[in-house]
Amino acid sequence: TAKSLGSEINIYSDQLKKDIVNQIQMVNKLQVGIEKEEFTLFYQPEFNLHTNEIIGVEALVRWPHPENGFISPNTFIPIAEKSKQIYALEQWIVNNALKQKLKWEEDGLEHIELSINLSSKTLESESNFQKIEQIIASYKVDYTKIIFEITETVIISHVDTAIERLNRLREYGIRIALDDFGTGFSSLTHIMKLPIDIIKIDRSFIKSIPKGNEETVITKNILSLAQDLNYRVVAEGIETQEQLEYLKLISCDRGQGYLLCTPLPSDKVYEVLRSSDDC
Ligand code: C2E
Ligand code: CA
Ligand code: CA
Ligand code: CA
Repeated sequence: TAKSLGSEINIYSDQLKKDIVNQIQMVNKLQVGIEKEEFTLFYQPEFNLHTNEIIGVEALVRWPHPENGFISPNTFIPIAEKSKQIYALEQWIVNNALKQKLKWEEDGLEHIELSINLSSKTLESESNFQKIEQIIASYKVDYTKIIFEITETVIISHVDTAIERLNRLREYGIRIALDDFGTGFSSLTHIMKLPIDIIKIDRSFIKSIPKGNEETVITKNILSLAQDLNYRVVAEGIETQEQLEYLKLISCDRGQGYLLCTPLPSDKVYEVLRSSDDC
């Protein structure tokens, strides 16, 4: 009836109001968080699946909020992207990740690769991309051990600018990884035109292993095609022994996941990298 429909609409608009209020509050909290540098970086190791050696680590931002506890990047990154606060946040992230890389190099961990996630927003903005380039140039790290992870969104919306900016990073010797591969619409033939070195297969595909269903077949085929095309392939989100065994069986060489190691604070990951501690 019209009456119940009316109250339904009210419920929806109440929810909408709440969402908007929450987002505004989050934007305000982010402002304070960025000013007070409330963020920290965790590092999740990436493994050679055959030898169990750690090849590198992925920097993942954490926000231990003074009142709200840990807030997930899945919550605050999209809001920061909308509010353009991502630029300042990402400058902080890249700056701190490279500072850490330099420290590790000085401490005998020069062989460890460092992956940093880069928002498509930063890649799309020339002035903000330049700020990231300035930060990169200010740290004389071994750039061949640096990887920037990007997602498909940027490639679809701004192909030519994306290619040009990714090539600027590659001039340093930095490599580019395509994150969450398989969740978007790009095919490998499309990706071949782009300056990409590494493909990270999204964990939604790994999750389905080894039930013999479509995702498993897709994983197997993405892997062999990507390897034929000379991409390095990394499997994300390995959670079970079964998944690990299957990935090794189909010759997937590299992977990350809770089974192998969760993201760790820098001091903990340092102990793990020095192999004095287990994950
Ligand atoms: P992502 O780049 O795909 O990162 C992988 C996410 O999967 C991380 O979540 C990681 O903790 C989680 N993960 C790792 N292994 C497993 C596993 O075995 N099972 C499951 N279920 N999850 C696993 P996190 O740290 O919460 O980050 C979520 C997303 O937020 C990231 O997805 C990335 O898109 C974004 N993000 C995180 N840190 C940064 C950052 O420093 N900069 C930018 N631009 N985005 C970031
Ligand atoms: Ca990533
Ligand atoms: Ca991913
Ligand atoms: Ca992601």
